[in-house]
Amino acid sequence: MTTRVWDYLVEYEAERLDLLDAVETVFNSGQLVLGASLRGFESEFAAYHGIEHCVGVDNGTNAIKLGLQALGIGPGDEVITVSNTAAPTVVAIDGTGATPVFVDVREDDFLMDTGQVEAAITERTKCLLPVHLYGQCVDMAPLKELAAKHGLSILEDCAQAHGARQNGKVAGSTGDAAAFSFYPTKVLGAYGDGGAVITSAESVDRRLRRLRYYGMDERYYTLETPAHNSRLDEVQAEILRRKLKRLDTYTAGRRAVAQRYVDGLGDTGLKLPRTVPGNEHVYYVYVVRHPRRDEILERLKAYDIQLNISYPWPVHTMTGFAHLGYETGSLPVTEKLATEIFSLPMYPALTADLQDKVVHAVREVLSAL
Ligand SMILES: *Cc1c(COP(=O)(O)O)cnc(C)c1O
Repeated sequence: MTTRVWDYLVEYEAERLDLLDAVETVFNSGQLVLGASLRGFESEFAAYHGIEHCVGVDNGTNAIKLGLQALGIGPGDEVITVSNTAAPTVVAIDGTGATPVFVDVREDDFLMDTGQVEAAITERTKCLLPVHLYGQCVDMAPLKELAAKHGLSILEDCAQAHGARQNGKVAGSTGDAAAFSFYPTKVLGAYGDGGAVITSAESVDRRLRRLRYYGMDERYYTLETPAHNSRLDEVQAEILRRKLKRLDTYTAGRRAVAQRYVDGLGDTGLKLPRTVPGNEHVYYVYVVRHPRRDEILERLKAYDIQLNISYPWPVHTMTGFAHLGYETGSLPVTEKLATEIFSLPMYPALTADLQDKVVHAVREVLSAL
């Protein structure tokens, strides 16, 4: 049996009755869109973060895009982020008409190098968009300081960091708004697509509710600014409600898997993830690093193991963003990491047996290099 990098079928088997009951609950409720399950999930997800408002949307990309628009970001504005991220972070900025501006990441933890942000600020900069990559938070204190000094807003991309913490504060509760994805592989995953934005500002919450609903307030069938439809449907909301109760258990499972990798691979030449002091990592993906990555992956093909690279192509080198004008070599750490990183299988239900196979295979390949 192939050891997959991610697999929901083990979880489905364990949670099947509860998940089917969630579907049945919605089908019996008499309301399939914008109903009690969505309202329940929104208030429970907000409460989990100690934040007043949550607005469910159809996916994480739109959570970022609508979050930015609700913060007033649009054409002519600049948003500072990283190129070492999933492409949708940047696609979402582009979708508002604003211009993405990239800073490099730090060599030892792959996170936004906050020391480079101030030099990237111009008169057009409106927003800082840190990505809490792989499951741990970017240093928020320096970003808060810069935002206050230059009058900028902060939107956190929490698509990979549900329940991660920094100095005790849960990811997404520090910025002006935070965007989440519930794509199935995520730390909190739906059985299909989903997303949400959390904020403590009532005005941002109100704008978000209009932006996901053609531009209308829910109560009054009139609108000032037309928008698209980006609702989170009832079935996914009810499933997410059930799974939110188990989020901390899933995370404990991920941390146990991470610890077994440390035990099994800590003495090899492979560079394992570093947790920044003050951070509590949730290990959305388990990204390791080796200068001879391509050779290692080639040799691992002989074993029945699926491995991923998150991400093989830095966003600034993609043809679709050539117009931003970043030359190859302009973000040297990001570009180097892309050639050296790969991800080992990681999900809460990964069994010790399957994981031992991975550890054994990697050890064998490394010792034969
Ligand atoms: C998954 C992801 C997104 C996009 O979420 P979707 O729900 O797939 O649209 C955005 N940013 C990051 C960092 C992600 O990992």
